[in-house]
Amino acid sequence: MKREEVFNFSAGPSVLPQEALERAAAEILNYNGSGMSVMEMSHRSAFFQEIFDATKAKLKAALAVPDTHEILFLQGGASLQFSMVPLNLLEAGTADYAVTGNFANIAMKEAKKYGNIHVAASSQEDNFSYIPRQEQLDLTPGAKYFYYCANNTIYGTAWDYIPQTEAPLVCDMSSEILSRPVDVSKYGLILAGAQKNMAPAGVTVVIMDKALAGHEMPITPLMLSYKTMIDKDSMYNTPPCWCIYMLGLTLDWLEKQGGVAGMEAIKHEKAQMIYDIIDNSKLYKPCARVDSRSDMNITFRTGDADLDAQFAKEGQARGLMNLKGHRSVGGIRASLYNAQPMEGVKALADYMKEFEVKHHV
Ligand SMILES: *Cc1c(COP(=O)(O)O)cnc(C)c1O
Repeated sequence: MKREEVFNFSAGPSVLPQEALERAAAEILNYNGSGMSVMEMSHRSAFFQEIFDATKAKLKAALAVPDTHEILFLQGGASLQFSMVPLNLLEAGTADYAVTGNFANIAMKEAKKYGNIHVAASSQEDNFSYIPRQEQLDLTPGAKYFYYCANNTIYGTAWDYIPQTEAPLVCDMSSEILSRPVDVSKYGLILAGAQKNMAPAGVTVVIMDKALAGHEMPITPLMLSYKTMIDKDSMYNTPPCWCIYMLGLTLDWLEKQGGVAGMEAIKHEKAQMIYDIIDNSKLYKPCARVDSRSDMNITFRTGDADLDAQFAKEGQARGLMNLKGHRSVGGIRASLYNAQPMEGVKALADYMKEFEVKHHV
């Protein structure tokens, strides 16, 4: 298939802005008259330092990151943060976790290895179909931090409010970062793997209140200390150079789209186009509760696993890729990240209507 014939609904790694990929292609053999690819140059070179500083500055501007907070470009995916967060922030205290999906659950279990963890809320008994409200959060007085996952990629749910806690907020924003403005000052630490909404897999963005660094447990590996990385501006060792460069290209594209405010203005419209079809359908059933729906990952099912599989398969044949639900839950999932064009959403909407006419008896 040709790229022009395809719309990619993958949950991650996922579609990147066409313009960012074209620039990377044009510069791949010779970056900015250096005679070298970004993949080939020293991370200590002036050429790369400029890319690094510019990317960091663009991210700082895009999310209006205050000077109290540091931006780190780390490796190990969002999943390594599940260990890094407790190693650095838990000390001898207790941390509260809201378990609203697979990744929050893994983060909670991982943190338990390092100390006292309290489950402040869980929607597991209801198949992670909803987000608990503020009054349902059972908060521990004096907790070291409160951990939650803003957008649950597998279940298709999202928090529509910022939890109010005394403890610093730690938030996994992997699958929604850069889709809306965020008041970064309200967070102790934001973490996000790049491969959903920012760049290729390989860089993990952490934005943290510098005041929280420097309290790591003595057993903390050097490489997993936020303080190490803050002191060395993410370059204690070789950073994921290519991914940082690609993030810069995505951020240039984002700015032209009106930044995160521009993304927020259209994300709900895109998602609603698909939710409207689900809500008016006799075939499709939503997985997430209406008040907890994600604009990024839309999950639904027909009630028949074979028909779900057929939906993904026939979709692929017409260029609508990766519509299969996560292997742990099945069903159908369409991810509508920033780089998913409106035409892609419309093509999916048309396909859903046709499929229903054809298959609903
Ligand atoms: C994809 C994802 C992860 C896991 O990311 P890795 O980079 O593969 O470790 C964690 N949290 C959320 C919300 C995700 O969407």
